[in-house]
Amino acid sequence: MRIFVTGGAGYVGSHCVKDLCEHGHEVVVIDNLCKGHRSAVYAKARLIEGDVGDAKLLRSILTATKFDAVMHFAASAEVGESVREPLSYYHNNVSNTLTLLELMRDAGIHKIVFSSSCATYGMPASVPIREDTPQLPINPYGRTKLAVEWMLADSASAWGLGSCALRYFNACGAARDGSIGEDHNPESHLIPIILETARGRRSQMSVFGTDYDTPDGTCIRDYIHVEDLASAHRLAIEAIEPGVGQAFNIGTGRGNSVLEVIEAARRITGQEITIEEVDRRPGDPPILIADASRIGQELGWKPDWTDIEDIVGSAWQWHQSHPEGFEDD
Ligand code: UDP
Repeated sequence: MRIFVTGGAGYVGSHCVKDLCEHGHEVVVIDNLCKGHRSAVYAKARLIEGDVGDAKLLRSILTATKFDAVMHFAASAEVGESVREPLSYYHNNVSNTLTLLELMRDAGIHKIVFSSSCATYGMPASVPIREDTPQLPINPYGRTKLAVEWMLADSASAWGLGSCALRYFNACGAARDGSIGEDHNPESHLIPIILETARGRRSQMSVFGTDYDTPDGTCIRDYIHVEDLASAHRLAIEAIEPGVGQAFNIGTGRGNSVLEVIEAARRITGQEITIEEVDRRPGDPPILIADASRIGQELGWKPDWTDIEDIVGSAWQWHQSHPEGFEDD
């Protein structure tokens, strides 16, 4: 297929672009490189530097080339920032997606895979979380992702859009071949912060909350390897049918506590990793674990990376071989 990928220079997007190209798809990426990295884009893909909110540019790209499908990653993705700057989130994540969908409709493109999030579930009443668990997001980030899911669902019957919203749990890890990995600035995610501490970039790290109702008192998350996310995207885009809107959870179905992830990192890195126990981070649900059986049944997807040590090890390999992250910044 010929696939247009927005945000294909970012963390999840770049791993998906690599996977698509390695499976014979032709890929054109648009990325404004505000968070993404030029050298994260797989060499066989074409990178257009530009903003997905630039309707004129988008129209010219979508009319010059006939694309079979779109993968849409370009978005703002920091929960705390979304609370401080909600309008910027509604602009980037909702308004820009609306423009993209209008231009897709005009260009006759009827397939899209959308990067959604378990943040659309908010504080779920029970785990594991199924796709029919009520979606009650508790922050602007989650609400923008849910708003797009609604646009996709409404577009299915109205103009025949085929869509698949993939609700990721905690994306992590790096490419097995060591070529690309996670490089955020500033970093806010658990595993890279643990590894920055292991490398001595931080003298210690914070554990947010040790009084949750979990076995060791720290939050439990479902850490899903970015290569498994990539295979889910590929299977989804190959299976989409025009006029049908779907949504799948993408996780391993297993949970690890913050302390378990730190222990795994201690074993992998051989470093002490000093922690400081601090207050809970506002808005953190105690436990988020996916029931991802639906995509297994419908598309035959299953995660290859299920052991937290292997997952942390893959991130550690990337951070050690790229101490300054991507070099084009
Ligand atoms: N966390 C932590 N210390 C940090 C960063 C994260 O204890 O420096 C915890 C956070 O409270 C959550 C888990 O690690 O329980 C995963 O957080 P992350 O920000 O990586 O992902 P999120 O679950 O917010 O999407």
